[in-house]
Amino acid sequence: MSAEVRTTCPYCGVGCGVLAKVAADGEVSVRGDADHPANFGRLCSKGSALAETLGLEERLLHPEIGGRRAGWDEALDLVASTFTSTIAEHGPDSVAFYVSGQLLTEDYYVANKLMKGFIGSANIDTNSRLCMASSVAGHRRAFGSDTVPGTYEDLELADLVVLVGSNLAWCHPVLYQRIAAAKEKRPGMKIVLVDPRRTMTADIADLHLAIAPDGDVALFSGLLAFLAERDVLDRAYIEAHTTGFEAALAAASALGMAEIARRTGLDEETLLRFFTLFAETPKTVTVYSQGVNQSASGTDKVNAIINSHLATGRIGEPGAGPFSVTGQPNAMGGREVGGLANMLAAHMEIENPLHRDRVRRFWNAPAVAEKPGLKAVDMLRAVADGRIKALWIMATNPVDSMPDADAVEAAIKACPFVVISDVSAEGDTIRHAHVKLPAAAWGEKDGTVTNSERRISRQRPFLPMPGEARPDWWIIAEVGRRMGFAEAFSHASPAEIFAEHAALSGFENGGERDFDIGAHAGVDASAYEELEPFQWPAVALPPSPRERGEGNVSNVRFFANGGFYTPDRKARFVAVRPAGETAAAADYPMILNTGRVRDHWHTMTRTGQSPRLSQHLAEPFVEIHPADAARCGIGDADIVRVSSARGEVLVRALLTARQRQGSVFAPMHWTDRFSSRGRIDALVAPLTDAVSGQPALKHAAVRIEKFAARAFGFAVMRQRPVWIDADYWALARCRHGWRVELAFAGEKTDWAAFAQKLFGANEEAELLAYHDSDAGQHRIAAFDGDRLAGALFAAPGPVAVSRGWAADQLGETHAGQRSRFRIVAGRAGADRPDAGAMVCSCFSVGANQIAAAVAAGCASVEDVGNATRAGTNCGSCRAEIRAIVNAGRVQAAE
Ligand code: SF4
Repeated sequence: MSAEVRTTCPYCGVGCGVLAKVAADGEVSVRGDADHPANFGRLCSKGSALAETLGLEERLLHPEIGGRRAGWDEALDLVASTFTSTIAEHGPDSVAFYVSGQLLTEDYYVANKLMKGFIGSANIDTNSRLCMASSVAGHRRAFGSDTVPGTYEDLELADLVVLVGSNLAWCHPVLYQRIAAAKEKRPGMKIVLVDPRRTMTADIADLHLAIAPDGDVALFSGLLAFLAERDVLDRAYIEAHTTGFEAALAAASALGMAEIARRTGLDEETLLRFFTLFAETPKTVTVYSQGVNQSASGTDKVNAIINSHLATGRIGEPGAGPFSVTGQPNAMGGREVGGLANMLAAHMEIENPLHRDRVRRFWNAPAVAEKPGLKAVDMLRAVADGRIKALWIMATNPVDSMPDADAVEAAIKACPFVVISDVSAEGDTIRHAHVKLPAAAWGEKDGTVTNSERRISRQRPFLPMPGEARPDWWIIAEVGRRMGFAEAFSHASPAEIFAEHAALSGFENGGERDFDIGAHAGVDASAYEELEPFQWPAVALPPSPRERGEGNVSNVRFFANGGFYTPDRKARFVAVRPAGETAAAADYPMILNTGRVRDHWHTMTRTGQSPRLSQHLAEPFVEIHPADAARCGIGDADIVRVSSARGEVLVRALLTARQRQGSVFAPMHWTDRFSSRGRIDALVAPLTDAVSGQPALKHAAVRIEKFAARAFGFAVMRQRPVWIDADYWALARCRHGWRVELAFAGEKTDWAAFAQKLFGANEEAELLAYHDSDAGQHRIAAFDGDRLAGALFAAPGPVAVSRGWAADQLGETHAGQRSRFRIVAGRAGADRPDAGAMVCSCFSVGANQIAAAVAAGCASVEDVGNATRAGTNCGSCRAEIRAIVNAGRVQAAE
């Protein structure tokens, strides 16, 4: 057995420390690192299941050219020569890199250096553009730098935490748990949730503001005006450390309460409750994420929030500040190296000739980019119209994750030269690559990531790289060398790259730039190996207080005493106004909000491999308010067609009063690999924020209608089906195989033949079938010896069979007729009660089991945990358990 390796979770921006161990038989186990300051030993459901996602089944193991296996030399030579010849013929802006917050900082650094210093274009952008570009833009407008002022500890120290557009319980679960634990210790601590949906995060909220989509600028403008009216401003801070307050206040005050109420969809009493709470609580942190950023007015929203904090001087103090939390594990690292098309490197600016010259000298670069490059949406437009002729996509899946996803796919398909370096051989984007390059995956990669509180941690390898997989930094550096830049890309290890990155951050810095980790410029291989998680800044030679602006940096927080990174070292208030309103289109009267679910990550290339994670929500769905559903004739569990002017998807209806009327919510994870038509971003128009270029992924005009299904089905099978002839299907792994949800528009006559093909069962398989054609009920099971090869349940309405029970049958032996008939009957025996929908992934505890525990007297989440173990490991399901406990209470009271 190997020693435990200290590494970092590859999912969200919390950046939890993970201890990974490989047993003698190769089995990997993970647990939270109790010494890591982001999580102190906690892991959420995704982090806990990391070991289940390391299989090689879908790995890209060898370079490929045009679909055939190739050697590394041939593939790298082709990439380098094609990029070189394209640049020679069409100029440096005819090529582009589309990279990812999944890359490690060292990978990112080399990619950015090659494009911005040696190719001479800034056409490198990242999928982090879809995640937090508006926060970057808002920070830069207000602070003069992309600085997150606070730390996670502030969320525990605050007396009021305002969560805006942030479903922390599902998207940043360990941070949510830290806040929940702090509130449990100090019940006086208040939580306000600002979100159109009553998400699971509302579980710990004292106040939920079910705000109208994009009502945030009006809300925080109203707050600023209220703070001024009640004279709870920090006049001394405003005077000493800011400019532009009067203009910002004038813009905010112009709205008036009635207009704010109209734009936010909130009544004045609720607004005043929130404003008063904020005004009366000096220790306030406002946390915001994608609900703020993914909007055509995202940057203004960010500045509206920051304005309220600057006006009260609540910034950089323990327990006070605006706090952007990033979606991806290394979104922050990407920002540090200049992975965004409008940044240079080490938080330097492309537009600034001094910065360009500094970077040129440091890199000894022949061609530093002189203007910002194309941001993600514009980059893909340039691919579509032929301006970009060679595109290299690294570790991301834009065919699923970009807005107007169908058009993005068409653009990539038509691009003359597409290189994709990735871990997975299967995916909706990689199928269009001319050259595929196998990259190292989590567990094999070696480098650093930066989390949302500016903490840099090591990702360390504990597995060998399989096949011919190579680290991303190595692949990029090899191409750089072959393009003629041997000296600049001579790095032999990630330690060397990190040292160079650290040196650049400190180069001619002297307190002028916030990002400075110059203390690590001299790091060698062994110091890099031992590197402990640390927060930046980490300056080599601390600048004098005068140089850095008096007291601008405490050990871990920025701006308590001003010292912003603007020319006069003062923060800028930004006068923001709510965006103009567009009337709802008659054809598409509803607003689609897209987002994440608890147990899946991005486009499921990793989490889709985990049976445990795939059980929580096993198919794409749309949340609809019951009143909207009734108006559209949609029932719970119906299949729904959601369409926009861009495209359409088929998803399952989930009726819930947690959803705001007039809006619907759908997750962004499902791809063509896991569903017939579940790529939700195909519906979203490529509208972007004018300042940040971030697309409005949470705001698409759509229509919903019931899909006229004549039959529904559910099946489990041991093999992944290679053929699914259904109008709607959604595939997910389960413990012993696969499960699939089905719906059909037409009449199906030969169910047995369909089932056999679906199961991939051999001809000797024994079929057991039940048909009631009048009732439209069909159940077919195929047995391979005494093992179940597959079972199909079909009905004229949504199939009521227990999914968990049916999936478990794949792992059992069925020697006797009784057990075989039980499968065809579609019912668990009396000794096998149906666990219900999965709630606790760690211990496989379903909703019915929790409800039964509540009915038996469990009155709290802890009671349920004691009785069933649910919620006692990672805790990600505690919000859902609490919802069931509360529902039980209401029922008891009735
Ligand atoms: Fe990973 Fe979960 Fe921690 Fe995010 S909260 S870093 S997904 S373990």
